[in-house]
Amino acid sequence: MNFAAGKVIRPIHTMNKDALIYVAGHRGLVGSAICRTLQRHGFENLITRTHRELDLTKQADVSDFFQQEQPEYVFLAAAKVGGIHANNTYPADFIRDNLLVQLNVIDSARRSGTKKLLFLGSSCIYPKYASQPMAESSLLTGELEPTNEWYAVAKIAGIKQCQAYRRQYGFNAISLMPTNLYGPGDNFDLDNAHVLPALIRKFHEAKESGADKVMVWGTGKPKREFLYVDDLAEASLFLMENYEEEEIVNVGTGEDISIAELAENVKDIVGYDGTIEYDLTKPDGTPRKLLDTSKVNEIGWFPKCSFKIGLAQTYRWFLANQGTLRF
Ligand code: GDP
Repeated sequence: MNFAAGKVIRPIHTMNKDALIYVAGHRGLVGSAICRTLQRHGFENLITRTHRELDLTKQADVSDFFQQEQPEYVFLAAAKVGGIHANNTYPADFIRDNLLVQLNVIDSARRSGTKKLLFLGSSCIYPKYASQPMAESSLLTGELEPTNEWYAVAKIAGIKQCQAYRRQYGFNAISLMPTNLYGPGDNFDLDNAHVLPALIRKFHEAKESGADKVMVWGTGKPKREFLYVDDLAEASLFLMENYEEEEIVNVGTGEDISIAELAENVKDIVGYDGTIEYDLTKPDGTPRKLLDTSKVNEIGWFPKCSFKIGLAQTYRWFLANQGTLRF
């Protein structure tokens, strides 16, 4: 049972606490948060595989894994992800790896009798100039943002695969579109990172070295919405138990800030007292991508973690994990 905004919600699909659950991508930002959240809710029968143990781009290996393990539930959080620079530089890797992973996992799950699968998409599936906030219905109504269209096209194919499998095979696959995520376990490698972890690292290193300025990419004007990853994990579990239709569902906070405001927030949390400069040779990407979250709110889910607290927790995690960070 779930309590949201004073309402008691009874799940339409209860997962038994001892159900076998496969979390694909359990070492990533999202997958690790989903594992933490499932365990916190008493689900102990989790199955995971590292990339070395199972390469999800290899169809025969994925098929064997599913036939052998027969997971009842699948959270598909495995994906090749990255910030604006990585997406722009490695378009082939982004479209190939994501298409292969999705195709293999969704198909093998269906063939091996998985009861329900949750596919994680992205807010970049929506058109570059979609009206804001972006409703689920704006999918495929306009041109995509060119810096990440390869990733976006792969994610759109994943959504369509889930919908097609539901129509043709009655396979219970649902798709969740998260906004920009951040939190413990993020990627702080400046070439691959998204803006929030990149700025944490840049401001922290500038403070440590006594540098007098930090370079922020682009104009600082684009706006982004940031959701703490544990909130996303709660939403994933919530939708697994409370939603089973083919239509995609947005998950976000419903609020966005400019990159310049984000930079000021990170500067404050880190305690850096130099100046901020904007590198206009770097791309801005899409001007705004705020999700319309009224659908998930109506179903009964709301985020819990405020941006200030989430940012402070992420910086604390960054400080405590200097030895093991993904740089
Ligand atoms: P996007 O949301 O797909 O555009 O991906 P990002 O999170 O990588 O970038 C969001 C915005 O932050 C873009 O306008 C970037 O130009 C801007 N940005 C500013 N500084 C940085 C930085 O150091 N790293 C990254 N990745 N983005 C930055």
